[in-house]
Amino acid sequence: MKRLITRFLVWTTPALLIAACSNSGKTSSTDSNDSMMKTIPAFDTTSIDKAYRPQDDFDSFANGNWKKLNPIPSTEGTWGAFGILDKENSEVKLKGIIDAATQNKNNEVGSDEQKIADMYRSFMDTVTIEKLGLAPLKSYIDKINSVNDLNQWVKLSGELQKIGVSSVLGIYVDADDRNSKMNAVKWVQSGLSLGEKSYYSGKDERMTMIRDEFVKHVDKMMALSAKPFLNAGQTLLQFETQLAAYQMSNVEMRDPIKTYNKIAMADLKTLSKNVNWIEFAAAQGISTDTIIVHNKKYYTDLNTLLSKTPLETLKLYTYYKLISTFSTYLTKDIKNEKFNFYGTIKSGIKEQKKRDIQAIDITEGLGDGNILGRLYVKKYFPESSKKKVAEMIENVRAVYGERIEKLTWMSAATKDMAKKKLSSFTYKIGYPDKWDDYSTITVKSNALLENVISNTLWSHEKMLKDIGKPVDKSRWYMAPQMVNAYYNPLNNEVVFPAGILQAPFFNANADDAVNYGGIIAVIGHEFTHGFDDQGAQYDDQGNLKNWWTEEDGKNFSILGKKYISYFSNFEALPGIHINGELTIGENIADLGGLTLAYYALVRSMKGKSEPAPIDGFTWQQRFYLSWAQVWHNNIKAEELRNRLQTDPHSPARYRINGPLKHLPEFYEAWGVKEGDKMWIPADQRVSIW
Ligand SMILES: [Zn+2]
Repeated sequence: MKRLITRFLVWTTPALLIAACSNSGKTSSTDSNDSMMKTIPAFDTTSIDKAYRPQDDFDSFANGNWKKLNPIPSTEGTWGAFGILDKENSEVKLKGIIDAATQNKNNEVGSDEQKIADMYRSFMDTVTIEKLGLAPLKSYIDKINSVNDLNQWVKLSGELQKIGVSSVLGIYVDADDRNSKMNAVKWVQSGLSLGEKSYYSGKDERMTMIRDEFVKHVDKMMALSAKPFLNAGQTLLQFETQLAAYQMSNVEMRDPIKTYNKIAMADLKTLSKNVNWIEFAAAQGISTDTIIVHNKKYYTDLNTLLSKTPLETLKLYTYYKLISTFSTYLTKDIKNEKFNFYGTIKSGIKEQKKRDIQAIDITEGLGDGNILGRLYVKKYFPESSKKKVAEMIENVRAVYGERIEKLTWMSAATKDMAKKKLSSFTYKIGYPDKWDDYSTITVKSNALLENVISNTLWSHEKMLKDIGKPVDKSRWYMAPQMVNAYYNPLNNEVVFPAGILQAPFFNANADDAVNYGGIIAVIGHEFTHGFDDQGAQYDDQGNLKNWWTEEDGKNFSILGKKYISYFSNFEALPGIHINGELTIGENIADLGGLTLAYYALVRSMKGKSEPAPIDGFTWQQRFYLSWAQVWHNNIKAEELRNRLQTDPHSPARYRINGPLKHLPEFYEAWGVKEGDKMWIPADQRVSIW
């Protein structure tokens, strides 16, 4: 479900399907104990392609050979440092933990090991899966068939959300943006099978093709699940196209003020006369007096749309959502058809991972990723990392404070507030201090779908328990083994899971310059999210509250707009530009993160002698090579196009070259001169933090 936390990178994997509303995901890491023995090179110079000048195209110079040597595997849409760690993590470390659990004949029923072993077995048991067919979904299918009017449909849609089947609205529980100590119930637009509204209105060839293929895909899914809906694909596309027209774009959804509308739950009756949304909530076990909705008008629009839509169409919509949500756990034919559309056609991925590898991903989804995560950190996370990372975080904080002090575009009053916010930042490193209680998740060796539903219901119950309660500030929104990091504006905190505290991000064998261009730039990136276009609207307590003087707010917005138009000029695919408005938060964070990391490195060298060049590169050059190494990446055109529509992060190539053209320190390190392609005129450069 949608949460405001901003991650270092986006991820899309089958494991997400296991608990559709959770933040659990497919993750990875390298074993730092191993890495100390193996000695992973700090920066691998064989990646460099000398056919390019670093002053003209830094990405191609630093990573050109790497790209040639590392083609995208047929099971992936994109391939880079994250994917490689991911693979090693899954196929070596998590697999090792799972193997140990499956080999143990004496696992206690209800223990983590029993759940892990039986989840894995149930996914591998294709004989039972084929034999059962749709039987595990029969009770839900019967309910859809017996719906007789609009409000029965609404109620059933609510009930199905408990098991992760999405509908036109989604409900989740999270800190109240204007009272961040308390939880609030948030309602948000949802339910587009193609993911985002632009897929329904895009006029170009690719968007048209995706819609045509979606129609065929829905028809095939219906045929495979023996559902005799006439013109199912066309009907569904038409319905979702109307729904999409009422939804806000992903750029509009970035506005925390516009999307914060606190209303009485009873007001839903006035906004939507024919549709009983209170029953929709009640069916999920949610009762509360006040809710926060992203857009009040959406309810009157839905009232119009749902009132005029034939009931059979709504039933078809829910039926497709049900089958699609669980397709990974159903028969081979259904599973393959879902992959064919969403994997191959939409993302350019040629083939599915082997079943035993998928089984690892599926098992990882248990307990929002934390059941395996808990065993993972015990085995692979060196406690000593916590102290080192805490020092790095404090180093970045100190540099940020000094830089805020020196800003020329900000008044003293706003600076005081910014520094107050900076000093209130909290951080989490490695893994949670306390783990959830997973005892209600039941897993059997021959009941895959029931297992998945039990896990999703656990996640839902956990959410329900938060309603009306103060926010648990110790909670993590990412599993510890993930190679990722996040900033949570409602908690004013930065979080670094064990997974990212590994080479090439954090390499005990590397020179400082490489670690500062890696993990410290990641830390700087997350800090900057507290001061990006969204984060800057939250105060030191994590409340959505303006702390800027009018003049300073205006200056900040001018700088942001300049950076938006700079990124909007990048043509990432023929005719398709980066969406500068969608990616502004992440682009600001990369720019700020690189600057903070660079000056944290300078600060760490005070009183020490200057390090000698390594492999012919100065420490300044190695800092930027390290940043490029983090983002070395090959990506399929199809997957790139998806991300350009939906990902708030710019494509990897532009995360490398984009910010560097604005950094005088980069110009100096590489001797970039007017006329070089990495050079832009000084008055076009943006420096925010
Ligand atoms: Zn980010």
